[in-house]
Amino acid sequence: MALQIRLILLCGLSITGMSLYAEAAAGSLVGGAIRGKPGSNSVIKSSAEWVKEFLLQHKVAKDKTFVPVKTGAIIVGGANVSTLAEDRIDIRLKVPIIQPVIVTPSSFAPHQEDDSLERQLKALERNPLDYRSFGKVAQKCVETACKLPNCLCGSDAIPGSIPLEETPQIVMITFDDSVNGMNYQLYQSLFNNDRRNPNGCPIRGTFYVSHEWTDYNLVQNLYSAGHEIASHSISHPFPGKNFTQQDWTDEIAGQRELLARYAAVRPEDVRGMRAPFLQTGGSNQFEMLWRKGFTYDSSMIVSSNNPPMWPYTLDYALPHTCNLGACPTKSYPGLWEMPLVPWSDLVGQRCSMADACHKQANANEVYRLLMSNFKRHYQSNKAPFGIYYHAAWFPANGFSKFLDAILDMPDVWVLTTSQALQWIQKPTPLAKLNKFQPWSCTNMKRPSPCVAPKLCTTCYCGGLRGITTCAASCPDSYPWMKNTTLIAPAAANAKSCKKT
Ligand SMILES: [Zn+2]
Repeated sequence: MALQIRLILLCGLSITGMSLYAEAAAGSLVGGAIRGKPGSNSVIKSSAEWVKEFLLQHKVAKDKTFVPVKTGAIIVGGANVSTLAEDRIDIRLKVPIIQPVIVTPSSFAPHQEDDSLERQLKALERNPLDYRSFGKVAQKCVETACKLPNCLCGSDAIPGSIPLEETPQIVMITFDDSVNGMNYQLYQSLFNNDRRNPNGCPIRGTFYVSHEWTDYNLVQNLYSAGHEIASHSISHPFPGKNFTQQDWTDEIAGQRELLARYAAVRPEDVRGMRAPFLQTGGSNQFEMLWRKGFTYDSSMIVSSNNPPMWPYTLDYALPHTCNLGACPTKSYPGLWEMPLVPWSDLVGQRCSMADACHKQANANEVYRLLMSNFKRHYQSNKAPFGIYYHAAWFPANGFSKFLDAILDMPDVWVLTTSQALQWIQKPTPLAKLNKFQPWSCTNMKRPSPCVAPKLCTTCYCGGLRGITTCAASCPDSYPWMKNTTLIAPAAANAKSCKKT
């Protein structure tokens, strides 16, 4: 049963007197996880309570590298409570970069909105009149009518009827939440250029990026290196099943715009999303994805894992029940679901994300967990094997051994989610994969890495927030829902700099 979480650290709320512990250096971040109380659906704690428990469990106060920071009228610490299944909560604390002088919007030089970006975003929108089944009640999938490349019924059958021995085993490594200095080194070491696919290209992953505490210069570096960047919302809200279509647009399409504006990600390359807390939002979420030109969602957990299900399109009714959040019930032609096939952990329980599995005691257990779940895919139907982690939970030692072991296998490819989807749309036998264009790493048309980021200091909720970016212009207030352009709407601007 999922925990219910309520944050009281809201805009405009003073937290004077609360003591937070954070690393001494401004801009640094501490993080980790704590356990809640399983079996209750009404465990509600304030952010301060979560923080206190987190610090106690992690003995942060005893670590000499951490110092207490008194909060005052200006918020100098924030809690980002993000996903995790069941009874675990992931908490990160960050000390935003504080400048000695309050910067007001008028301090920024005038700048122009980016007209070309506006045009690109507009071009992504689909016209329902082009699709006869759009928005109608979804019917049972009919295989004779649902054909690749843009329609596939949900099943455990290999697409294109490719024989098992001619099918590549695709592995998708994904990470959720903010990208910043706390996890960037991990990503660089994991995806180092020595780890390569059979065609010689370096392995790459998918990052579902949320806005808060993200350093956009580092996202640009990941994108530049060939990783896939996807949307995980702006505010990481909960629970998505109650959201309107406009809420989903503000959060998910809004985050795509921020990724484009501050991390130089082409909008059409932000193809997918993952719902915060895996809480899907039914037809409101999926109609937003369809209308805004996204290609896939990767939030829904399928019930069974043996044999595992292949991805499918939402032209027809779902081939499984929804375990979290609300199901879409209408037809969204050509929109893909990259479902989360649950793992079985070492004590026989199912886990939706790898870091929700029963904790492994050592590197050997990490290796056994990964390899046993990998083999269930590899030895049955080679459905893409998803490895879904949060950086704070990543078990580096056992994972490296596993990764190097599977990369020794000639039919294993570690790819982005979109690359996996491109094979499904065009099933190609192993012998031809070295020349399969979507899996090539040449001519990727990615921007240069961000080597000299600027710090944009903005005010928000009576405090200051920094954004690191290589964008030409700084926003005049902290980007947020309904405030994704450089020049904030008047209402957002007034709110963002209101003193508390
Ligand atoms: Zn998350």
